[in-house]
Amino acid sequence: MLVDMTNWVRPDPDAAFRRAVPAGRAPARDWLRRLDAWWVHGSPRAVRSAVRGTAALLLPVECVCCRRPDAVVCGRCARALRTACLRPRRVEHRAEALPLNPGNEPMPVIAAGSYEHELAAVVLAYKNHQMPALAGMLVPPLARAVKSALDTLAEPGAPVVLVPVPTRLQARNRRGYFPVGLLLGRLRRAGVLPEGVRVARLVRYRAARQFTAAQKGKGRRARGAVRNSMCARRRRTLDRLAGRGARVLLIDDVLTTGSTLAEAQRALAEAGLPACGAVVLAATPAPDEKRGVRSTR
Ligand SMILES: [Zn+2]
Repeated sequence: MLVDMTNWVRPDPDAAFRRAVPAGRAPARDWLRRLDAWWVHGSPRAVRSAVRGTAALLLPVECVCCRRPDAVVCGRCARALRTACLRPRRVEHRAEALPLNPGNEPMPVIAAGSYEHELAAVVLAYKNHQMPALAGMLVPPLARAVKSALDTLAEPGAPVVLVPVPTRLQARNRRGYFPVGLLLGRLRRAGVLPEGVRVARLVRYRAARQFTAAQKGKGRRARGAVRNSMCARRRRTLDRLAGRGARVLLIDDVLTTGSTLAEAQRALAEAGLPACGAVVLAATPAPDEKRGVRSTR
């Protein structure tokens, strides 16, 4: 008796690489195709995983939070991180340099969690220790905070733009990636953002030369390290968004004094589209909060 096996056989993952190429055309592509096919083939994959296993023996990995061996973030710390970020919170009272709204209130900021314990360790490793792979752990907390901001800060029905706060070119060159942009890109690709919400890099740091020119003639106080260091980009998109009544949410990784957010807000307001709020991954705990935590323990 013949049994139809097609339902049990998984589609061949290498099939795409075995597509027939017209003979005599693009030999270089043919060679690359073979290399690709070889690379994803079972046996080299086994060799690579063996090499990785040996490398883990020679260069042991350890948890970035608790230093336990064998995982970049161990199960216990991953669970603790998840629990710490379950409830996004308003944190604008913690930062004294935030811009003021017309009502003289600081710009509302929502944080996924406090910059302490596991969240601080993972954010630090992600940003400063060349571990972009940790983005996967930080996307869900950010998604939760963005959702909370969309529910409470944005007007229903109005289009919303998520604008990452830029990093300086120097820092970006050193890292080789843009931490906040990478997180937002993954968030967008995950397909969890509601309809009408888009991501756009509308603010950038001025080049050093422009920065010096912009600082000229300013008083000493106005010449802070951050002031006038950013400007808006993609003016046409900005004008179009302003015309449609879009609301802007700034996205940053860590909130300390709020001066970076203030500078990004200044650049956006100058271009005619001020942000209605901001979302950060983590906010440094206020001094009184720290004391409160300690006394309850
Ligand atoms: Zn751990």
